[in-house]
Amino acid sequence: MTTPSYLAAAFCALAFALALAFRRHRAAQLLAATSLAVGVLSLPPGSGVLADRSSSAVTLFLPWCWLLALLLPEPPLRSRRMLAFAGVLALAVWLTAIAPAHVWSAFEQALPLGWLAWRPGRTALVLNLLAVAIAAGHWLYWRRPLDAAIAFALLLSAGGWLQLAGIGLHGWFVAGAAIMGLGVVYSSWRLAFLDALTGLPNRRALDETLARLSGDYALAMVDVDHFKQFNDKHGHDAGDRVLIAVARSLAQTPAAQAFRFGGEEFCLLFRRPELAKAACEEARASIEALQVDLPRKPAPVKGSAKSAGKSAVPKRQPAVQVTASIGVAPRSPVRRGVDEVLKAADQCLYKAKDKGRNQVVATA
Ligand code: GH3
Ligand code: MG
Ligand code: MG
Repeated sequence: MTTPSYLAAAFCALAFALALAFRRHRAAQLLAATSLAVGVLSLPPGSGVLADRSSSAVTLFLPWCWLLALLLPEPPLRSRRMLAFAGVLALAVWLTAIAPAHVWSAFEQALPLGWLAWRPGRTALVLNLLAVAIAAGHWLYWRRPLDAAIAFALLLSAGGWLQLAGIGLHGWFVAGAAIMGLGVVYSSWRLAFLDALTGLPNRRALDETLARLSGDYALAMVDVDHFKQFNDKHGHDAGDRVLIAVARSLAQTPAAQAFRFGGEEFCLLFRRPELAKAACEEARASIEALQVDLPRKPAPVKGSAKSAGKSAVPKRQPAVQVTASIGVAPRSPVRRGVDEVLKAADQCLYKAKDKGRNQVVATA
C-alpha cells in the first residue's frame, strides 16, 4: 500500500469506528463495507489474488452489501442481523481471496446479473443508484439528517462506476465515507444539543452558551400556563403539538435566542438587555394568538352504540389556544453570575403566575 492509500483506508475505518461509537448501526454497516472495499482497492497490484481481483470483487459485492444494509431494519449492535451482515462481508472477502479461477469467473457472470449483457460496472452503477433512492426514501420518510448524508455519500460513490474526473473507484468511495462520517458526527451533535420534540437548542446547549457568556445580557423564563390541566383535558399528543407551536413562536422572538429549558419551560437569551421586556411582551402575545390544531379523535369502533349512524372518518377537533407567563431579568451589578440572573428571572416568573398568568414581569 502507498502512504496515501493507507491513510485513505485508515480514514474510512475511523469513520466506521465513529458510526459504531455513536450507535449509528446502519451507517456502520455501510462504512464497514466501504472501508473493506477501499482497503482491497488500496492493495498494490500483483501483491496477491485479493489485489488482482480487488476491482471486480468490489464491483461484484459492494452494491449488494449497501442494498442489504439499507433494506433491512437498522439492527442493534449485538444482534443476529449484525452478525449475519459481518458474515456476508467475511464471505465476500473469503470468496475473493480463495475461490478457484473457474468459480470466480462464474461469479463474475452470475452476481452482477450478467444476463443483462451489461458491463459489470454498469450493473453496479444501477444498484448503487437504487441504494441512493432507498436512502433518499428513508430521509423523506424519517427526515433524519444522517439518511440525507448517506444518500449523498452513495451518490458520490456512484461517481466511481462512472469513472468521473479520473479519480477511480477508490477516491469516490473515500469521499462518500467522509460524507457519511460527517453525517454521523452531525446527527450525534443534534442529539446532544437539540431538543428532540421541538428542535430548539436544549438545556445542555443553554448551559454551554451561558458558561461562555460575557458582557451584558438578559434572561427570560417562559412557562406555559396550566399545562398539566391542558394535558389532562386534551391528551399528551395534543400537549406535544402545543409545545412545538410555542417553540416555533418563541424562535421568532426578536433579538432573542430560544432554548427549551425542560418540560413546558423555555428560556430566552437577549444579548441586548434593553430590548428584552418589549420582545417578551411580543412573544407572550404571539403565544396567546396561536391556534393549535388538535390531533383528530379516532372514529368510533364500527357497530358500537356511539357509532350508530356516524361515518368512520376521524373527527376533526376545534383548534385550541394557550397562554404563557414570562419572567425577565438582566445581568446587573448586584446580579453578576448566570445562576443569579436565572434565579431572578425565575422569581419574576413566579410573580407573573401569582398575578394571574399570561403576563410578563421584569426586574431592573
Ligand atoms: P402553571 O400554570 O403553574 O405553570 O401550571 P402547569 O400545570 O403548567 O405546571 P406544572 O409544573 O404543574 O405542570 C407541567 C406539566 O407539563 C406537567 C407535565 O405533564 C407537562 N409536560 C412536561 N413535559 C411535557 C412534554 O414533553 N409533553 C407534554 N405533552 N407535556 C409535558
Ligand atoms: Mg413549569
Ligand atoms: Mg406551566
